[in-house]
Amino acid sequence: MPAAGELTFAAPRRAKPPRHLADLTPAQRRDVVSELGERPFRADQVSTHYFSHLGDDAQQMTDVPQAARSRLAEALLPPLLTPVRHLETDGGATRKTVWRLFDGATVESVLMRYPGRVTMCVSSQAGCGMNCPFCATGQAGLTRNMSAGEIVDQVVAAARWLRRGEVPGGPGRVSNVVFMGMGEPLANYKAVLGAVRRITAPTPDGLGISQRHVTVSTVGLVSAMDKLTAEGRGVRLALSLHAPDDELRDSLVPVNTRWKVAAVLDAARRYFDATGRRVSIEYALIRDINDHAWRADLLGTELNRRGRGWVHVNPIPLNPTPGSRWTASEPAVERTFVERLRAHGIPTTVRDTRGREIDGACGQLATVTAEAPGGP
Ligand code: SAH
Repeated sequence: MPAAGELTFAAPRRAKPPRHLADLTPAQRRDVVSELGERPFRADQVSTHYFSHLGDDAQQMTDVPQAARSRLAEALLPPLLTPVRHLETDGGATRKTVWRLFDGATVESVLMRYPGRVTMCVSSQAGCGMNCPFCATGQAGLTRNMSAGEIVDQVVAAARWLRRGEVPGGPGRVSNVVFMGMGEPLANYKAVLGAVRRITAPTPDGLGISQRHVTVSTVGLVSAMDKLTAEGRGVRLALSLHAPDDELRDSLVPVNTRWKVAAVLDAARRYFDATGRRVSIEYALIRDINDHAWRADLLGTELNRRGRGWVHVNPIPLNPTPGSRWTASEPAVERTFVERLRAHGIPTTVRDTRGREIDGACGQLATVTAEAPGGP
C-alpha cells in the first residue's frame, strides 16, 4: 500500500485478459507451442497468420494440420476485442470504434485516413488515472491496464479493415500508430513497451510498422520517460504540457504536483539526446486559461533554454467535453500564440481536430460500460 498522501499510478487489481500471441516474444510463442506438444515452428505459422495475413479465423491456417488449428488458436489467438459500435465521419475517413474487452470494460480507438497516410490512435488503459480536468477520459477514472495483446489487436483490426477495402479510399495499410487514445501509456509501461515491440517488429514476428511512425504520448511521468529513453528506441515521444508554469500546470495536469515543468522538460530533452527524435509538445489551447501571449513567450523561453532544434509544439484547439465550462481559444488568440512561439524559433503546427462530430477527437474518448449495449 502506498503511504498516505503518496501518489500511486497502479491500476486496480483485476482478472487478467487471456494470454495472446501478441503478449509474447517469438521465443515465448515457441515455448507455448512446445508445451502443447507441437513443433516449435508452428508458432511462426500462427504469427504469420495473425501479423502477416491478418487472419481472424484459425481454420484459414491451412499450413497447419486441421487437428492442431483449434488447439493453437485457443492457446494463442483468443478473441480480445468485440466491436460494440463504429461511428464514422469525414465520409468514412475517420472511424471511432468502441470495443468491449473480455471483462466488459470498454475502450475506444480512432482510425484517421489522410492522403498517403493512415493513423490508428489506440487506447492503452480502460479509463485513465491522471484526472486532467479538461479531458473526458480523465474524468471517468481508471478501470484497468490493457494487455499488450489488447493494444496490438486494435491495430490489427484496423489493418484488416484497410486490407479488405472497408475504409473509403481503397485497400491500404496502417502507416502510423499513436498512443493517444484512452489511458496514460507510461503508467502501463510494460504492456505498452510490449505492444510497441510487436507493432514495430518485422513481419511475421510483428506488424512491421516503422518505429519512426509510432508515437507514445505522456502527461510527463519522468521516471518512465527515462526508462523509455534508456530503451534507445526510435519511437516519437509526445509530451502533454498544456502550461509552461507550475502554478497553472498543477491544476491542468495534476501529476505536475509530483514532476514539475522543469523536470518534465529536462526528461524530454534527455529523450531527444538519446534518440535524436524531436519531441512533440502538446498544448490544448483553452480560452482565457492557458492561451495568453506571455505563456507562449514563457514556453518558448523554457524550450530554448534547453537547446535548439530538439522540439516542436502542437497546439490543439480544446475539444468540448461534457460538463466542462472550458472552450477553445478565440482564433485570433490562437494565431498570436502560434506566432509568438514561431518568433522564438520553435516549429509550431496547430493539430487538426478530426472526429469532433463523433466524440472521437483528443480528450473526448470516454465510453462508460453502461452506455454501450447492443452489437456492432
Ligand atoms: N495520457 C496521454 C495520452 C493521451 S493523448 C497524454 O495525456 O498525453 C491525448 C491528448 O489529447 C493529450 O495531449 C491530451 O492532453 C489531449 N487532450 C485531452 N483533452 C483534450 C481536449 N478536451 N481537447 C484537446 N486536447 C485534449
